[in-house]
Amino acid sequence: VQRCRIVAAAEVEQSYIMIKPDGVQRGLVGEIISRFEKKGFLLKGLKLFQCSKDLAQEHYKDLKDKPFFPTLIDYITSGPVVCMIQIFVILSCKAWEGVGVVASARKLIGATNPLQAEPGTIRGDLAVQTGRNVVHGSDSPDNGKREIALWFKEGELCEWESVQTPWLIE
Ligand code: GDP
Ligand code: MG
Repeated sequence: VQRCRIVAAAEVEQSYIMIKPDGVQRGLVGEIISRFEKKGFLLKGLKLFQCSKDLAQEHYKDLKDKPFFPTLIDYITSGPVVCMIQIFVILSCKAWEGVGVVASARKLIGATNPLQAEPGTIRGDLAVQTGRNVVHGSDSPDNGKREIALWFKEGELCEWESVQTPWLIE
């Protein structure tokens, strides 16, 4: 039985989530992935990856004029990251399709500055400083697409069905 196949350009909203090098070094990979699993997102891609400076600069190109940009690039390239694609289960139900995985993931992640992030969020519970805020999440559906295309190659994505679906969606 073929359980995994290459996915063509899906029109479903997708978020690019990344555990940053501090999250990997601090042993938080399982904890962070677990939060998205428990929420009910569907994992569509996952890998441990050492990124180049070029890729980090492209990923954060909107921030290139910020004073912290060089330290941000050093941080993101300082060790392996865990790259993920998270989606909501695709159903024919229009209301569910309209729910944004991008915005929902940002809520789970919390504010950029962990001191301002609410308890219960990943950054609120697990981090203390903006420059070491353990996780990235796309800030718009368009950036989700852009980032997934940057960080994943065709053939690294899986389309699969979760047995949880009927227990998540009425
Ligand atoms: P995010 O979308 O919440 O991750 O925040 P941004 O897109 O504004 O910034 C991207 C990343 O750059 C943040 O997650 C931080 O790791 C880093 N960053 C943002 N602002 C600062 C800052 O003022 N100082 C430092 N050192 N890093 C920052
Ligand atoms: Mg951002």
